[in-house]
Amino acid sequence: MSFDLVLFGGTGDLAWRKLMPALFQAFRHGSLPPQGRIVGVARDDLSDEQYRSLIRSRFDQVELAKRPSAEEFDRFAALLHFLRMDLSRPQDYDRLAQTLRARGADTVVMYLATAPALFTGVCEQLAAAGLNTPNTRLVLEKPLGHDLASNRAINEAVRRVLQEKQIFRIDHYLGKPSVQNLFALRFGNALFEPLWRRETIANIQITIAEDLGVEKRGAFYDSTGALRDMVQNHALQLLCALAMEPPINAHADAIRDEKLKVLRSLTPWTVQSLGQHAIRGQYTAGRVGGQQVPGYREEPGVAPDSQTETFVALRCEIANWRWAGVPFYIRTGKRLAARDAHIVVNFRAAPHAIFDVPMGAVNRLVINLQPRDGLELHLLAQSQDSRHAARAGSPMLTPVHLNLDFTQRFGAERVGAYERLLLDVIDGRLNLFVRSDEQEEAWRWVEPLLDFWRHERNGPRPYAAGSWGPSASSAMIARDGFCWSEEC
Ligand code: NAP
Repeated sequence: MSFDLVLFGGTGDLAWRKLMPALFQAFRHGSLPPQGRIVGVARDDLSDEQYRSLIRSRFDQVELAKRPSAEEFDRFAALLHFLRMDLSRPQDYDRLAQTLRARGADTVVMYLATAPALFTGVCEQLAAAGLNTPNTRLVLEKPLGHDLASNRAINEAVRRVLQEKQIFRIDHYLGKPSVQNLFALRFGNALFEPLWRRETIANIQITIAEDLGVEKRGAFYDSTGALRDMVQNHALQLLCALAMEPPINAHADAIRDEKLKVLRSLTPWTVQSLGQHAIRGQYTAGRVGGQQVPGYREEPGVAPDSQTETFVALRCEIANWRWAGVPFYIRTGKRLAARDAHIVVNFRAAPHAIFDVPMGAVNRLVINLQPRDGLELHLLAQSQDSRHAARAGSPMLTPVHLNLDFTQRFGAERVGAYERLLLDVIDGRLNLFVRSDEQEEAWRWVEPLLDFWRHERNGPRPYAAGSWGPSASSAMIARDGFCWSEEC
């Protein structure tokens, strides 16, 4: 099968930091179909050779499991071409059409790795140039809009020129091996399914913590914030994977139908819950990894009086038979104590105690997403320690855990998120991409929060860089009698 992959924004940060290394890894693993061509598009005036040299020089700055030799890079670089285009000029699309028609590849992937403001215009121009053929696939990067109305406007523009099955909306979390293992854990094993419900689960916590600040993307982040950047997409997709019913098969729409039902079952925000179950924060100067770092408002590109949240903690509920009454906590932020993304499923305590157990010790399944991915099952065991054996009365149990590290088990050279997703686009597999109705439903749920924060006078709560966020986040969860995993 031959393919053309057109990378709009082919010289941009996303292209050279994520997409090119992912395509190279796929090439190295022998998984790219052999008859491929990758066409970078931007406004620079570059020859194919100059574009290859640019990508080669950028490869020195990216993390790769093993550096390519000159010969290996040259074999990959032979796939790379460059086309100068200004995406806002209709006449430039004719040259793209000529380039693509001259080759007539079986599949043409158009990857929009460029500002979302260009998406609608690009779609219209692709259609005007006759490039919306049945063998075209369009990849849309996040953020797809900044609220429900702008998200709908983009989706409608795209659907006017292509069918839903041709549209691949990226949420790169879905491409992570750890997230695919979450699906495998739930729907490939029978062990947990009988326990996966309100009768046995006390609460579920999703944490996506970053120790980095906004780096060079201050201006972008300041107009976005943590709710739009992380919660509306990644965190809610994780929530769906945790809470959805088993799909009837592994086809894209069967999976997406079930995820959509979860989003529709999220309890809507009320005046009371907006005040009590949504905490926003903004980091101030502090120490991270032994280094002094500036506060958010001192970062380049950030307004000195910015009200943008760099931290969010939410408590939500899913109103259906499986989950009614079970709190789901979501927490994400920048400049937190560690780079650590994980999910904790806290089970209820044993119904009748015949042993003594340490305070707060419960069965717990921890799904580690990054920096390492794996599973930990926390149990209670009878210690052989003589001090415990000698105690009078009920024996005291000790927390112990089983630990499965997927990196150790499957090796470090695994298929990365963007590699997986790019291969799926080329092969036409939609399972790990987000359907427009899911995306709109997620925006519908977060929008009252965006409105509330826009008008709330108090602004985000300060927290020191290197901490776990404002203390109000711990207080919120403590009101339910629980604590975040690092506090228990
Ligand atoms: P960027 O570094 O600013 O790159 C933008 C690219 O688009 C450049 O190649 C630029 O080249 C090209 N471009 C801009 N205007 C153009 C025009 N009128 N015609 C043709 N080409 C044009 O941005 P980025 O960080 O790669 O981000 C791209 C998109 O991905 C954004 O929507 C971003 O939010 C999203 N995203 C980025 C990341 C990331 O890690 N960077 C992660 C997730 C999502 P010229 O200016 O030379 O034309």
